[in-house]
Amino acid sequence: MQDSLLRAIEREELSVLYQPQLFLETGHAAGAEALVRWERPEEGLIPPERFIPLAEESGAILDLGRWVLESACRQAALWQRSLRGLRVGVNVSVLQLEHPGFPGVLEEILRSTGAAPEGIVLEITESALLEHERRATEALWRIRGSGVRLAADDFGTGYSSLSYLDRFPVDYIKIDRSLVRRLETNGERTASLLEALVVFAHSLKMRVVAEGLETGVQLELLRGMRCDIGQGLLFSEPLPAEEAEAFLRERLLPRSP
Ligand code: C2E
Ligand code: MG
Ligand code: MG
Ligand code: MG
Repeated sequence: MQDSLLRAIEREELSVLYQPQLFLETGHAAGAEALVRWERPEEGLIPPERFIPLAEESGAILDLGRWVLESACRQAALWQRSLRGLRVGVNVSVLQLEHPGFPGVLEEILRSTGAAPEGIVLEITESALLEHERRATEALWRIRGSGVRLAADDFGTGYSSLSYLDRFPVDYIKIDRSLVRRLETNGERTASLLEALVVFAHSLKMRVVAEGLETGVQLELLRGMRCDIGQGLLFSEPLPAEEAEAFLRERLLPRSP
């Protein structure tokens, strides 16, 4: 699998799906998250949770991640012209982030695709970042300085969530789907925690995104606590770019007069 992963890009076996994100209060389009897929001839679709860790082990993540970033920025550049104000999230491995060439690669991709940096959100998993703090911090500040936005992904699954927010220049907190699920099963306790998190995030001008939103009950609870954005099967599964575009186009913010 390691070997064929290295050749998957050349063989055009990788593709990117886009999962729509909506503002919870109004239902308007907020953006989409780019999610990589690997279609192997004999095996069919392999989920990223099976091959991203392998790619990280072998180092293939640098090429793979660059390919995803470039695809997503090319798509974002198109959408920035036709669907105003939408942001495209791209998952970035901490191994990419701590590679000294990464900020330069990102700037080059923004230039060549014409994507506006303000429309790109790099999603970084919280727990990974804390382990690689020193080198990653420098890269994050440089990247944020170029206008690209940052999101703390899978928030609530790591260990030092609050200190993380104090140290890294993030614009979005993505609440992990395990916490969103606990809203219903664990009730009051999880609700209070998330409610406080939203207040805290807003006081620092961050937006909160709920991942894995599956039920109307979750939606109402999150809307009630002023969580900003939702992403999950309740709205849409990850879709090919054209289908995601059609979904988002129907929900665009009305043009201001
Ligand atoms: P993630 O960044 O937290 O992405 C959200 C995952 O939740 C996606 O899984 C998405 O399909 C899934 N999801 C969306 N809505 C729902 C829902 O309502 N319920 C449930 N149960 N799940 C939902 P996916 O696409 O399998 O990706 C899994 C993980 O793989 C991602 O988690 C991300 O960490 C990683 N990944 C995906 N694409 C890339 C990539 O291009 N680069 C890197 N480094 N990692 C990636
Ligand atoms: Mg993500
Ligand atoms: Mg993640
Ligand atoms: Mg996540």
